[in-house]
Amino acid sequence: MNDSIPLHPGLLLVLSAPSGAGKTTLAHRVLKEVPGTIFSVSFTTRRPRGKEQEGVDYHFVDVAHFQEKIERSEFVEWAEVHGHFYGSPQSVVDEARARRGVAVFDIDVQGGQAIKRKHPDAVLIFVLPPSMEELERRLRDRKTDSDETIRRRMLAARSEIERGVASYDYIVMNDDFERAFQELRSVVVAERCRRGRVDLSKLKLEKPGSSEPGR
Ligand code: 5GP
Repeated sequence: MNDSIPLHPGLLLVLSAPSGAGKTTLAHRVLKEVPGTIFSVSFTTRRPRGKEQEGVDYHFVDVAHFQEKIERSEFVEWAEVHGHFYGSPQSVVDEARARRGVAVFDIDVQGGQAIKRKHPDAVLIFVLPPSMEELERRLRDRKTDSDETIRRRMLAARSEIERGVASYDYIVMNDDFERAFQELRSVVVAERCRRGRVDLSKLKLEKPGSSEPGR
């Protein structure tokens, strides 16, 4: 397996999950271990939580700034989630295409579906928590959200899971982090071999005088 072969024409990898399913940790591992990956740092109008850093976890902006970016078509997709705006930068798609790399989007199901509509070659992966009880425990352990926020997030989680399992390309269960990571990595490896992504130009399959390959 050669992880460093450029991906033609770049791979847009969307990871979605209800909050607390561990997708952000998985995304960071993919970034560390899969060469040529670019993380899409979303813009959001919500305030930073805990140890979140500007430009690392999100770009934290006000609503006016966010709206300017919508008007300038700087988002490949944007959505309102839990009363705040979130948007994925178009520049990350352009960069992944230009560098033939892997753009990783850590976004919700509506965002993933919007990217797929614009870019049908995007690959959507849904990360499932082991159980709803475990999901609630993980949300409580973060100690960053109030009881009311946790209750709202659990309700949202159910509908997010229903929509994700019905429409995504791959489902990865995060009951064992290492196995979940290996499954994610396998998806990237398999997608590298997909017809249309392998750069065949060096094979020179065309016969002299023929414009049809392989004849
Ligand atoms: P949180 O506020 O917990 O970081 O994120 C709330 C939800 O918004 C999560 O499901 C997260 O994946 C999603 N999200 C983060 N960035 C984006 C984005 O750019 N677009 C969309 N559609 N969802 C996002």
